[in-house]
Amino acid sequence: MIQDDAPRARHATLLSAAQFAARKHASQRRKGNSAEPYVNHLIEVARLLTELPATFDLNLVVAGFLHDTLEDTNATRTELVEHFGEDVTSLVEQVTDDKSLDRAVRKRLQIQNATLISARAQNLSTADKISNLRSTIADPPRGWTLERRREYFDWAKAVVDRFTGVDPMLKREFESVYSSFGPELDLQPQSLSAGSARV
Ligand code: ZN
Repeated sequence: MIQDDAPRARHATLLSAAQFAARKHASQRRKGNSAEPYVNHLIEVARLLTELPATFDLNLVVAGFLHDTLEDTNATRTELVEHFGEDVTSLVEQVTDDKSLDRAVRKRLQIQNATLISARAQNLSTADKISNLRSTIADPPRGWTLERRREYFDWAKAVVDRFTGVDPMLKREFESVYSSFGPELDLQPQSLSAGSARV
């Protein structure tokens, strides 16, 4: 009997990416009060990329797990190429900020360079931003004022609005999360204690 080993190989690749990311980010946590393990974010981004209606793009999902390794861990380009190949590494590089620049410059560059990255990398970046906006709503980074959260949302939208190759379903999900930053968030205790007068 002929056995198709392709699905097994794909599952193995996905799990080794998850394991690589989990190990590299092992000591990191999200910035919210519940300090979720960082790997939760990586799994969410990878999962969003499995939901694209186009043909399953294994390397893109693998890059979903790995997208923060070059920016936030000691992983190197050589390591990524060795384990996951050039295509995955290139996807990760396209969504990696240059940490030697200050935060404001990095953010401006993401807007400027939005049209220079591939459509697949645009999907990866959009999935990343969906996950980040969701957690900014559900469990805001400690110490972030309402204004800072608003700025973060608007910056993410400025980047995604410049993308020309994003999958429409992903774009709709982004718009939906973006627009959920509405008046109900203004009623959270954080903003009330900031002195808004309520009658
Ligand atoms: Zn990320």
